Amino acid sequence: MTSDTKPASKNETATAHKSMFDAVLARLDVAAKLLGLSEDIAEILRHPQKEVKVSLPIVMDNGKIQVFEGYRTVHSTAIGPSKGGIRYAMDVNDDEVRALSAWMTFKCAIAALPYGGAKGGIKCDPRKMSVGELERLTKAYTTALVDIFGVNKDIPAPDMGTGKREMAWLLTTYSNIVGEHTPGVVTGKPITLGGSRGREAATGRGVMIATLEAMKKTGMDRKTATAAVQGFGNVGSHAVRLLHSKGIKILAISDHTAAFWNEKGIDVLAATKYAESNKGVLKGFTGGTEISNDQLITSKVDVLVPAAIQDVITEANAPRIQAKIIVEGANGPTSAEADKILNEKGILVVPDVLANGGGVTVSYLEWVQNKSGLYWSEEEVNTRADQSMGTAFESVWYNAQQYKTSMRIGSYITALKKLEKAIKYKGVY
Ligand code: GLU
Repeated sequence: MTSDTKPASKNETATAHKSMFDAVLARLDVAAKLLGLSEDIAEILRHPQKEVKVSLPIVMDNGKIQVFEGYRTVHSTAIGPSKGGIRYAMDVNDDEVRALSAWMTFKCAIAALPYGGAKGGIKCDPRKMSVGELERLTKAYTTALVDIFGVNKDIPAPDMGTGKREMAWLLTTYSNIVGEHTPGVVTGKPITLGGSRGREAATGRGVMIATLEAMKKTGMDRKTATAAVQGFGNVGSHAVRLLHSKGIKILAISDHTAAFWNEKGIDVLAATKYAESNKGVLKGFTGGTEISNDQLITSKVDVLVPAAIQDVITEANAPRIQAKIIVEGANGPTSAEADKILNEKGILVVPDVLANGGGVTVSYLEWVQNKSGLYWSEEEVNTRADQSMGTAFESVWYNAQQYKTSMRIGSYITALKKLEKAIKYKGVY
């Protein structure tokens, strides 16, 4: 298995993107109009509640000080404490974190979790940093944001470029400062420190459930279905393994180093073993023909799972996509312009805010276990998470049908209905 700390790569970026937050607002406006959402509520949701930027001076291994930019944006706490991951990548900036925080608000509402949405990040290239440098950076970030985080305030988790190791550093720093062990302040921790069984595979597992649900709706037989999965990190690798375990033939896989195609089906176990023995990357894998990322995205498969980074399905490649179903494992893989093209082509897109909600769902279960002090088996966690994904899928499907719109807009409508109620009950003063 590749490491959780595998960051994004420029190779996987199809285009330089415009404002990601504008793309969120564009979809929010379409859904608000269809739903007849009050303009007051829409206006509240167009503005993140709190945005913090911090400067983090770190002593690098060469003895020199380097100052990193850190961010945390709380988009909404209308439904509960804010929840969302922390990413380490070079393209982290205020706009990206803002967009990702808003998606968390919608994602949590769709999954019916008692959470609002937040996101954080540090502009850095974790691949070029030593473990010691990453530890100091994570501890400095936590120290700088200790007043923002809290078990019932704002609960971080892993995202691109971070994993259980960073969450353990965050937990220990936070606990040391507040003077008590506070496992519920962060999710995605190692199991020995209060992490949940099933959390690591949770996002990929949710992608698998969402794919099966979409297949049922479109009458696709999973025994004869084929798929291409972009990304082999924490989401993609588990999605590949779990889709394969359901009988779906995986014809293409990729990571930031290479993409591969095998007409007869990729030997998933061999690919996983190869990556494990090859510093976590697929480059050099001999179980398929090497193809480009563009070829993977437009390959002749039934299901396409973009599970790497944002903005990989754009106006440039959307007209050439051959898949019948797209299940968005990554956050924001499809541009707002590409949405229109995919809809016109009749491709069913299971949007990110629904499809990758399995991760935050098990984060919630982790938080519940931390609060109660009672820990569940992996089976129990998976059963609860699968049920929750199924219910979320149905409510988005229902709203999409009801409002005669795409699942993406249907998912926003699902979230907006709940957010509107919560904000109205609480009142605005
Ligand atoms: N970073 C993940 C996401 O985008 C997980 C968030 C969480 O578990 O809080 O959904």
